[in-house]
Amino acid sequence: MFKKILIANRAEIALRVIRACREMGIRSVAIHSTADNNSMHVRLADESICVGPPSSRESYLNMPAIVSAATIVGADAIHPGVGFLSENAEFAHMVEDHHFVFIGPSPEHTSMMGDKITAKNAVKRFGIPVVPGTEAPVTSDEEAQAFCHTTGFPILIKAAGGGGGKGMQIVHDPAHLKEALLVARNEAKANFGNDQVFIEKFLVNPRHIEIQVLADNYGNAVHLGERDCSVQRRHQKVWEEAPSPVLDDKARSDLGELVIKAVKGLGYRGVGTFEFLYENGQFYFIEMNTRLQVEHPVTELVTGIDLVREQILVASGEKLRFTQKDIKFKGHAIECRINAEDPETFFPSPGKITAYHPPGGPNVRIDSHLYNGYTVPPHYDSLVSKLVVFGDTRDQAIQRVNRALKEYVISGISTNIPLHQRLCANPVMASGDYHIHWLEQWLAQTADEQN
Ligand code: ADP
Repeated sequence: MFKKILIANRAEIALRVIRACREMGIRSVAIHSTADNNSMHVRLADESICVGPPSSRESYLNMPAIVSAATIVGADAIHPGVGFLSENAEFAHMVEDHHFVFIGPSPEHTSMMGDKITAKNAVKRFGIPVVPGTEAPVTSDEEAQAFCHTTGFPILIKAAGGGGGKGMQIVHDPAHLKEALLVARNEAKANFGNDQVFIEKFLVNPRHIEIQVLADNYGNAVHLGERDCSVQRRHQKVWEEAPSPVLDDKARSDLGELVIKAVKGLGYRGVGTFEFLYENGQFYFIEMNTRLQVEHPVTELVTGIDLVREQILVASGEKLRFTQKDIKFKGHAIECRINAEDPETFFPSPGKITAYHPPGGPNVRIDSHLYNGYTVPPHYDSLVSKLVVFGDTRDQAIQRVNRALKEYVISGISTNIPLHQRLCANPVMASGDYHIHWLEQWLAQTADEQN
């Protein structure tokens, strides 16, 4: 087992890994930028080391500085967390070349799944249904026109190397195709350093349902059920839950089995998530994330399995300690992503926390790096807390979310807590009957009504 893990990340996810390390008797090392000197992950880790100035490019994305830090502190493994370098195959290679264990899949799997086109082609071989789309990057307007002619509009142009819901272009009619391709290529190049784009059929009313997997180095793999992340804004998840309000046990185990066939066939190791859109009873694979997900706690609450602990165990070479039939699902879990942002305009709202009181009570979990007097820096992601609750039923979980949100005090900055409160009171949310575009449509409609 590892003796010391360096965590190449910050904020709540770094804290999550520190907590797992401490429970496993592993020393943890926090890295940080100069803007994060007072961050809770730095305070709670056993050791910390500064890797650069505030800009992510020069600190949390600075591969040589991070690997040097691991050498200086004598770590034996590096956990990349989520975001930043967690899906960067070059980083995984560099980590391994310097004889540290990368807590994640092989760099080959990271690069295969990091390109959405190769990812779709790879899983298709195992019978996984994918969103209809071009099977190679689109290189000319004629190719794009030909695809759209057969599929019909609307279509979605996506960056092959895209992520974080960025850089997608919806096109509703042929007249706008050429211009949208140009914009998509430029954005892809600027954001992801790779101008390859491809086209998919745009699904009008799908849900987002994803399957969590866990695999060891010896060909053993299990799935841990699904998470429903259909409440989204700008292709980013806002509220996630497990189980999905629309899947029954058979649909869950059928899809889970199919996914596990692919995991085993690919020889994948570690934790990972297969993301699907689900419309009219059909699943369509969109991408695989080869890392822990922000929303992993909901799976932990309904399965009782500590995903970070298991991830560390398999990375250290241990065999999976359970088989599929040992995994039992119980109750309902919901996660609200609490962002430092204006609840109406969604503009980021960094600044000093003047009062902080997190909710508690039965079955309420807060994963957050906030504390009274902490200053949320303006340089990074706006996620400041994950409120996660467990209930026997979905109704009970929603009531518990509502109760916990009422207790939650975060003063000095704006957050989207009021938005989550409005969601709890919304009959559509209670019905479970919505799709990935619903939240934006509802927000637009209520904004219109106010004007
Ligand atoms: P990213 O890697 O940027 O997160 P994804 O491919 O995972 O991109 O897609 C993010 C979100 O965008 C999905 O959850 C869904 O809301 C939307 N989306 C992706 N592909 C489609 C599609 N073909 N039709 C409709 N919406 C889509």
